[in-house]
Amino acid sequence: MTGQQQHIVVIGAGYAGLAAAARIGKQHRVTLVAPESRFLHRVREHEAAAGRPAQRPELAKVLRGRQVTHRQARVTELDLAGRKVFLDSGEALSYDTLVYALGSRTALHGIPGAAEHAYPAERAAELAERMRTAAQPGTVAVVGGGPTGIELATELAEAHPAWQIRIVAAGQVGGWLSPNGRAHVNRVFGRLGVQAHDRSAVTAVTAAGLRTDQGTIDADLVVWAASMEPRELAAEAGLAVTPDGRAVVDAHLRSVSHPEVYVIGDAAQVVVEGVGELRMSCATAQPMGVYLGKLLTGGTDKPFDFGYVIHCLSLGRKDGLVQLVHKDDSMKPKVLTGTTARLIKGLIVNGVLWGLR
Ligand SMILES: Cc1cc2nc3c(=O)[nH]c(=O)nc-3n(C[C@H](O)[C@H](O)[C@H](O)COP(=O)(O)OP(=O)(O)OC[C@H]3O[C@@H](n4cnc5c(N)ncnc54)[C@H](O)[C@@H]3O)c2cc1C
Repeated sequence: MTGQQQHIVVIGAGYAGLAAAARIGKQHRVTLVAPESRFLHRVREHEAAAGRPAQRPELAKVLRGRQVTHRQARVTELDLAGRKVFLDSGEALSYDTLVYALGSRTALHGIPGAAEHAYPAERAAELAERMRTAAQPGTVAVVGGGPTGIELATELAEAHPAWQIRIVAAGQVGGWLSPNGRAHVNRVFGRLGVQAHDRSAVTAVTAAGLRTDQGTIDADLVVWAASMEPRELAAEAGLAVTPDGRAVVDAHLRSVSHPEVYVIGDAAQVVVEGVGELRMSCATAQPMGVYLGKLLTGGTDKPFDFGYVIHCLSLGRKDGLVQLVHKDDSMKPKVLTGTTARLIKGLIVNGVLWGLR
């Protein structure tokens, strides 16, 4: 693999795909396919939702000096037997090795009305515009009590103090955190006026707000951040996938059904010994891209290894939470909060861009 120059096609330029392409492109000819010209940087989408300026560098800048050609297009189909990638531009690309890094999107879980009435993080700019141009402040209900929901709710509450922000979860908002972590999130909710609705499973989204198994929750706008799901292309192409559509890979992130295909980031189901199944996150996607870059350029032949250290949440621009965790992602009691946590989160988010190169 490393001696002879290969043509490697990387599909998807998120944390996983871009980190891999930048490294593989030091040695092999790489074609990177993604529809955007600027780095997606999804972990900043809650900032965009609050109307903060986008900080998305051009992909061409990140890839400068590498043998990487960016095709600004969408993959429509894969022919794994013929080793071809079909694009919406009508072009077909042939490859020796394929790196599949198409990531994930917000899962609407087939909840009636969610697609029509709710804004997922992917529509952050539209949401920001709706709030900016509203005739008067109203109520926003954020659905999802995980990290994305909490980051969205606090960011919106801080940027729009005249609006009433509600956060709604089927379980407990912040329920996965340690008691200290949860207590800090609740303190920040109190300071910003965010109203939490625990144990309220949403059954429908309407123009007037939410229907839940506990009754209705009025809202002028609904933001959907309940969970993420992989894209269907892997399953459609015939890669071995889990029931929820993530590609099954071996210890070197190689598809168990198609050895010439590697799958990284949210698109892959990755199990690490002593850690378990990794969750969809930037924190796991980027290390997978870095690892694959090393593997395909001869820098390592070891299996992919990973251990969790922290969860890092921004709680608006002035506060944050760094939750310490064990290697297997279980909570430690210790947390860092306030400005210290906010600065750590800022360093990590900015550091991502350095790590990509
Ligand atoms: C608001 C928000 C905040 C978050 N905060 C954090 C956080 O603090 N920490 C953390 O660890 N995680 C966080 N996450 C999760 C994290 O963003 C994802 O897990 C991560 O982006 C996955 O990276 P990826 O490279 O696998 O895929 P993605 O970042 O989803 O990138 C996928 C790439 O594939 C491209 N693509 C998709 N379809 C096609 C197609 N058909 N053809 C060609 N290209 C295509 C996309 O355009 C993109 O380039 C957050 C998510 C959100 C929404």
